[in-house]
Amino acid sequence: MKKIALHWQILLGMVLGVLAGLLMTQFSGGREIVQNWIKPFGTIFINSLKLIAVPLILASLIKGVSDLKDISKLSKMGGRTIGIYIMTTVIAVSIGLALVNIIKPGNSISENTRQELVQNYSSDAEKYKEEAAKQKESGPLQALVDIVPDNIFGAATENKNMLQIIFFAMFFGIGLILIPDDKSKPVKDFFDGFNEVILKMIDLIMLAAPYGVFALLAALVVESPSVDLFKALVWYTFTVVLGLLLMIVFYNFIVMIFTKKSPAEFFKGISPAQLLAFSTSSSAATLPVTMERVTEHLGVDEEVSSFVLPIGATINMDGTSLYQAVAAVFIAQAFGMDLSLSVQLGIIVTATLASIGSAAVPGAGMVMLVIVLGQAGIPEAGLALIFAIDRPLDMCRTTVNVTGDATVSMLVAKSIDKLHQPKVKDWNDNYPKK
Ligand code: ASP
Repeated sequence: MKKIALHWQILLGMVLGVLAGLLMTQFSGGREIVQNWIKPFGTIFINSLKLIAVPLILASLIKGVSDLKDISKLSKMGGRTIGIYIMTTVIAVSIGLALVNIIKPGNSISENTRQELVQNYSSDAEKYKEEAAKQKESGPLQALVDIVPDNIFGAATENKNMLQIIFFAMFFGIGLILIPDDKSKPVKDFFDGFNEVILKMIDLIMLAAPYGVFALLAALVVESPSVDLFKALVWYTFTVVLGLLLMIVFYNFIVMIFTKKSPAEFFKGISPAQLLAFSTSSSAATLPVTMERVTEHLGVDEEVSSFVLPIGATINMDGTSLYQAVAAVFIAQAFGMDLSLSVQLGIIVTATLASIGSAAVPGAGMVMLVIVLGQAGIPEAGLALIFAIDRPLDMCRTTVNVTGDATVSMLVAKSIDKLHQPKVKDWNDNYPKK
């Protein structure tokens, strides 16, 4: 019998998860059953993906950088990567701002609903404000200081410190380029083999993906707030989702123009990573799968993907920046504020920076939104307005974040002639391979 393609299996897992969650909320005790007996499997699945992230970055980046053979190639690739990342983020924020100004979702919120939302969610919003305050306290160069760890083992104990791991791996890789071949060869061979093992582990984890997403979504459904609250936010949701869809169209368009790959090919290659991003709301947890798909199914040379993708997962968040722009203006509209053009231009800058600063984990975009609101003089209490719908939107924006990283990796690869025919032609994957 022909095996069902992985992305269909994952999709089926998601749909069944939502249905199971809805069913279980219908009778008493159902919620607890899901929380106690189903949710843990989702947690195990996410943990196993996160578990792979640090060793994967270390192995693949060290291998990738040392394969470059000379350092000028690294700086060329680095410059392009950062340049394109910033460009796509600015485009995303601009699309968000344009849409929210045209649709004006904040004007459709009545005074009563606004007060109700603020009351219901003000304590949750408080927590986010506290977290953002901690980030704001640090000096202007703190972000730079944070990139250089004082202890590699310390850095490797926290997935949050991804940039520190990237820094160490690149530094190590550069050292490896600079020593004589007979000395570097055994080290390279070691990381080469290590990398293969990690990729195989990802294949194995992906076997469990349909079950993992089933558990994650069932738990999400039983834990989500009542549907009534969502109704008030329908225009806001529509604006964010429309913007995110436009970003997906934009990515397909530039992939087609620059790499000559059709949207169908691109979609077939990247969809399992997109579905996983949607289910986990975390670019960091999805990173191992994004790497595997981009390298083996979209033909990006490992030299490029191992460099561009981990950096992208941490700093390139187009979906998040678009959402932050829409959310900020939506809150201002709901509070009856008129934002001047200069304030809106300021939002382009702060949302771009805030998305770079957002961690690749669920809800991080909302923490950094506090900073965007603060800069634009919009009441931070407004965070409570969008709380109810944040998780579903987080799922959507994470999907866009991951798609953006994949797109940029293809563009960078193409620009330095490192985009090949994919290794796995039959995208109807057979996990594990061989
Ligand atoms: N969850 C998002 C990500 O991991 C970040 C965010 O917008 O909250 O990419």
